Amino acid sequence: MFDLRGKVAVVTGGNGGIGLGMARGLARSGARIVVAARNAEKSAAAVAELKTLGSDALAIAVDVVDKSSVDSLFAQVRERCGRLDILINNAGINIRKPVQDLALAEWQQVLDTNLTSAYLCCAAAYPLLQQAKAGKIINIGSMLSIFGAGFAPAYGASKGGIVQLTKSLAAGWAAENIQVNAILPGWINTDLTRKSRAEIAGLHERVLARTPAGRWGDDADFEGIAVFLASPESNFITGTAIPVDGGYSSAA
Ligand code: NDP
Repeated sequence: MFDLRGKVAVVTGGNGGIGLGMARGLARSGARIVVAARNAEKSAAAVAELKTLGSDALAIAVDVVDKSSVDSLFAQVRERCGRLDILINNAGINIRKPVQDLALAEWQQVLDTNLTSAYLCCAAAYPLLQQAKAGKIINIGSMLSIFGAGFAPAYGASKGGIVQLTKSLAAGWAAENIQVNAILPGWINTDLTRKSRAEIAGLHERVLARTPAGRWGDDADFEGIAVFLASPESNFITGTAIPVDGGYSSAA
């Protein structure tokens, strides 16, 4: 079970944090990983690490907000790997400002990076998944796919949208043996939250108190769920959004 040998996986934002955590899981199960992100140095380090786990990994630079860059990514995947089986739409950013302080350009930057990117990648990946006659897409949401937060309206809108996009893609492509699911991380210790933790007094303690597991998550918490949703063992599961949150979304 959970054998991904011979499979090719693209992980956007796979050069750090949750993306690299998921990439490690897929690599350990035998998949060839394409690390797709902007920072070449970070991507090279991720590839070197994934190679030590036995994956014939490679990095392809992409800016997920740019359609021509996304199209070029999947053209290169076709050329260099010959196939695509798994797509993880993980790249994401946050701009923490309430609506009244948020410029239109900032709103668009968050929506483009977190939501429109998933549409662009799915559209560009579709012919390759059709060719493989099977496909697995994993979209990364958030607790703000479920809850509102006055400090992050653009982020919340993008992550709510990710769940609905997941359902529509799942409904549209199920008959073609392409399963599409979302993962909703709780509070996870990555570059994204490290800054907030340093800047927002009391955040660290509030997360510990609010999370039933009594700890922050880390990138290793995402290896298992990624392998499960990428493997044939989850073939009858599609359109779901699975929290990986230490119980955060289940507790008052
Ligand atoms: P990181 O900041 O560590 O990772 C974000 C990744 O996205 C980086 O690898 C970055 O690579 C990539 N990225 C950002 N913008 C672009 C772009 N325009 N084009 C290509 N790649 C891009 O954060 P996390 O690991 O925490 O976040 C991963 C996902 O998990 C995000 O979608 C985030 O919203 C979500 N999430 C995180 C939570 C947390 O607590 N950490 C909670 C809930 C959800 P590069 O800069 O090299 O391009």
